[in-house]
Amino acid sequence: MEAKKFTIHTPREDFINITRSVRETVEQSGAQSGIVVVWCAHTTAGITVNENADPDVVTDMLYGLEQAYPDRREFRHMEGNSAAHLKSSAMGVSKTIPFEQGKLLLGIWQGIYFCEFDGPRTRQYYVKVIEG
Ligand code: ZN
Repeated sequence: MEAKKFTIHTPREDFINITRSVRETVEQSGAQSGIVVVWCAHTTAGITVNENADPDVVTDMLYGLEQAYPDRREFRHMEGNSAAHLKSSAMGVSKTIPFEQGKLLLGIWQGIYFCEFDGPRTRQYYVKVIEG
């Protein structure tokens, strides 16, 4: 079946919980067993899975990424957003999640996040359900 496209409006930098949209796409597909691929077609954003209980985890992730990949004078990329490109590659631009009996096999504390590193922007991500 065709990938489902979602559009979101993002702030400058944030992790946006998109778990519900992925769960609902799997449920609406009617597939019972398979994998779902969450993909973002951007070079300064990403997709990750991390804790969904304590919002301080997202705050700490953003802080940690800022420490690991600070903006540097030495960067040559003219757009001036090389730190965001580094963070995008560090998180990756897709995640694959298995599902059984129509339910995502996420742990109880796991959520799926769209990671924005160079907003505010209008962004898209895709959810592709593969039965099998
Ligand atoms: Zn750039």
